Amino acid sequence: MLIGGGAVVAAGAAGYAGWDGLVRWWWRVAGLERPRREGVLDHAGAEWVAASSANWRRADRPLDYEIDRVVVHVVEGSYGDALRVFRDPLHEAAAHYVVRKDGYIAQTVRELDVAFHSGNRAFNERSVGIEHEGYVDRPGDFTDAMYVASARLTAGICARYAIPVDRTHIVAHSEVPGTDHTDPGPHWDWDRYLKLVRAAAD
Ligand SMILES: [Zn+2]
Repeated sequence: MLIGGGAVVAAGAAGYAGWDGLVRWWWRVAGLERPRREGVLDHAGAEWVAASSANWRRADRPLDYEIDRVVVHVVEGSYGDALRVFRDPLHEAAAHYVVRKDGYIAQTVRELDVAFHSGNRAFNERSVGIEHEGYVDRPGDFTDAMYVASARLTAGICARYAIPVDRTHIVAHSEVPGTDHTDPGPHWDWDRYLKLVRAAAD
């Protein structure tokens, strides 16, 4: 869940602003930042719908931060709601992806960058965040098409960064240390999801 979660992320980001600046400066001087082109996607078949640059931090993962977690979210709203707030520079949060009920996927932040999605700085740096359209208390929102498409996306992420497909490395937003968010909630079928991720990886 991202709506209403901005304050927590903002407090964390503000406290480390100076450190962030130092990291960026170092990369610039070193000249090691990899070139990037607008619209380049990490997940084939996703549509690029850029989040506001205020809602993520430029990085060079996995060279500067190792990626070893996937964080599963539920929007508490529609696919369109998620894309709208991600574009809002005052929202102070965005995930890397948004999955629609019909399985359509938008990529909103590049995986090499740090998206502000978990409310925990260290977790943001080590993870890729995936939002799912719908509400935590409406099990019908989690459709077959959504599970299959999201599992394929997560399988790709796990393959790219050699992340084990298990519940230690594929986690709920509610399991991120320090968060008060409850998504994806009790109706998210983890057994089914991990089975689909493993099947997609084969
Ligand atoms: Zn969430």
